[in-house]
Amino acid sequence: MNEILTEEHQKLKQQLDTVLSQARENELKMQRFQAQELRLIGTRSLAALVQNILYNYRSAFALDAVSLVLYDPQYEIQRILEEEGTRLDELSNLIFITDRRLMSDIYNGQLYGGESFGGESYGGPISPQLGVFNPSQHSALFAESIPRLRSVALLPLLRYGELIGSFNLGSINEQRFTPASATDFLERLSTIVAICIENTTNHERLKRVGLTDGLTGVNNRRFFDQRVGEEVARALRTHEPLACAIMDIDHFKQINDLHGHQAGDQILRQIAALISEQLRNSDVLARYGGEEFAAVLPGTNARSAFEIAERIREAIACYQFTVTEYNHTLPLSVTISIGIAIMGENTIPTEVEPLMTSLIKQADTALYDAKNSGRNCVVLTDEPH
Ligand code: GH3
Ligand code: MG
Ligand code: MG
Repeated sequence: MNEILTEEHQKLKQQLDTVLSQARENELKMQRFQAQELRLIGTRSLAALVQNILYNYRSAFALDAVSLVLYDPQYEIQRILEEEGTRLDELSNLIFITDRRLMSDIYNGQLYGGESFGGESYGGPISPQLGVFNPSQHSALFAESIPRLRSVALLPLLRYGELIGSFNLGSINEQRFTPASATDFLERLSTIVAICIENTTNHERLKRVGLTDGLTGVNNRRFFDQRVGEEVARALRTHEPLACAIMDIDHFKQINDLHGHQAGDQILRQIAALISEQLRNSDVLARYGGEEFAAVLPGTNARSAFEIAERIREAIACYQFTVTEYNHTLPLSVTISIGIAIMGENTIPTEVEPLMTSLIKQADTALYDAKNSGRNCVVLTDEPH
């Protein structure tokens, strides 16, 4: 009798040990998940978030493959990442698609989860797909080929019921992800990844709206003032010249008076595009006021700045503008006057703020001289800086 009891006791003890060790393992797993989650939530930029998702998960959870597929029909996410300095060609496990049907093939033909979307009803919620790696179906999700990939977990990224991407985990261990595995951790993870992608993208969108001129699409004055400060500081550090140009449309009031303000708006848009075409990527152009534009040109001396400004002036003077007035398209000619000031390479480093103010003021004075010299011309301030 005693022996039976001891055996029973041993068995129970073993069972309890197994349960306890499983619980401990789960707790550790949860802690690791939570640490990663906090890391994701704390990431501010989209570029850092993507790096975080692609690399930290791989090492933290000993995965053999991690990839992220994002639906980016207007290339907006790609633009944001590039502007944040990400080399997209170096991130082979980040895949952009413009057609969501590629993902719906994986998630049981569904593009939308939940009960209804846009008035139409769809099946049940889209859920993670766990199981054997099937090269013909899954290779497109893992751009870099992992020779011995055996099992995958494909996590749908959903925002407001819509499929915005897929977060894909792969292992060379066949048992790592099976249809019978619990998915609650993974479902939570995919929700957090989706929210973080949406949040960082929105944050970038807002930043752009706040710093862009709605009419012309070029930078606004707030952005310009911020950038001029940065460029002045950089020019002082690198001992490079810095040019500043202020451009004002000639007799613009007449255009509004004769053809209406909508026609004026159309001219403003076309002028912004013409100026942009003549500038380099490193130059900063902004709509500085109503019909005034300003530009800073790093590494540009007086002679080059004058040549660039002349090219802008000429491009505008030669261009046949078109405005629509009462359903008729009218050709119009417009000219612009430009004032330029230079901060030379030998400027004695002092505080940025007064240098910046003086540079803009001098360009403004040169513009005033250009207006007084009959307009449609470029004046370079000869005052040494
Ligand atoms: P000048 O050659 O001396 O610069 O003459 P101007 O007529 O261009 O200068 P003025 O400062 O007298 O007039 C500027 C005009 O620009 C007046 C204003 O109504 C117009 N304006 C400013 N912002 C906008 C805008 O966003 N849209 C339109 N259509 N007009 C604008
Ligand atoms: Mg003006
Ligand atoms: Mg004007």
